[in-house]
Amino acid sequence: MKTQSCNTTTEQELGQCFDRAKAQIGVDEAMLLVTRLLGVSFTELYTERGRVLSLPVVETLNRAVQRRLCGEPIAYITGYKMFRTLDLQVSPDVLIPRFETELLVDVVLDLTADRGRVLDLGTGSGAIAIALSKFRELQVVAVDNDERALQVCAENCKEHEATVEMVRSNWFENVRGRFDTIVSNPPYVAADDPHLDEGDLRFEPPSALVGGLSGLEHLEEIIHSAMNFLNPGGWLVIEHGYDQQTSVKKMFADRGYSNIQQRRDYTDTPRVMWGRAHGR
Ligand code: GLN
Repeated sequence: MKTQSCNTTTEQELGQCFDRAKAQIGVDEAMLLVTRLLGVSFTELYTERGRVLSLPVVETLNRAVQRRLCGEPIAYITGYKMFRTLDLQVSPDVLIPRFETELLVDVVLDLTADRGRVLDLGTGSGAIAIALSKFRELQVVAVDNDERALQVCAENCKEHEATVEMVRSNWFENVRGRFDTIVSNPPYVAADDPHLDEGDLRFEPPSALVGGLSGLEHLEEIIHSAMNFLNPGGWLVIEHGYDQQTSVKKMFADRGYSNIQQRRDYTDTPRVMWGRAHGR
């Protein structure tokens, strides 16, 4: 069945192609592919079912469906992912922004007044940095150690007219100055976590996912060093793994942060923790 529909050799009607994609990958993802890759609007999908698609167009859709059937994330196939209200470009060089990471942005917005200086460590597609710079008058610096990730971030900044200063740096290595808030969604999955062999994670850059054997390596480094880059009374806000709450809280406390607080994500899993640098 699959092979048959894939070997289409003639032009076909839009309705027919859409229905076939729907049967293979479900209505939501079929819609995403048709609207994103074929430039057909949601309305046209229903009002222009009889529109004839040329062979190359039919093949573009079929190839995309096959990639999805092989497990590739829909975001990498379309090249886009929504984050809050932002339509962000993504590529296999960056982590696909997660719904729960929107919480990090919410927490930073709650904690930070306008005109503060914010550092986003491990920015990837730039999701957090761009969201912050769009929703508040903040001076945002975004750091990533991967040049290709910074290129994706730069594209997104351009597309959303966001003013973000980008720095290539291994965490704090090339960072200068102090910040009112430091935010990070670092790689925090343990190297032997079986989730790495499941779903979208199989296609995402390991450098954006894996936090060493324990998963805690980068979190530890960030929590430790951030204290030296925060203004007195500034906040460090981080995302962590579903089972890391106790270890992360201890790291914050051991390093002398105060007002340590946490928030659960939409699945009621502890996900975001923050604490205040001493000095005010
Ligand atoms: N939350 C991601 C997951 O799906 C991991 C992201 C990260 O390591 N920062 O497991």
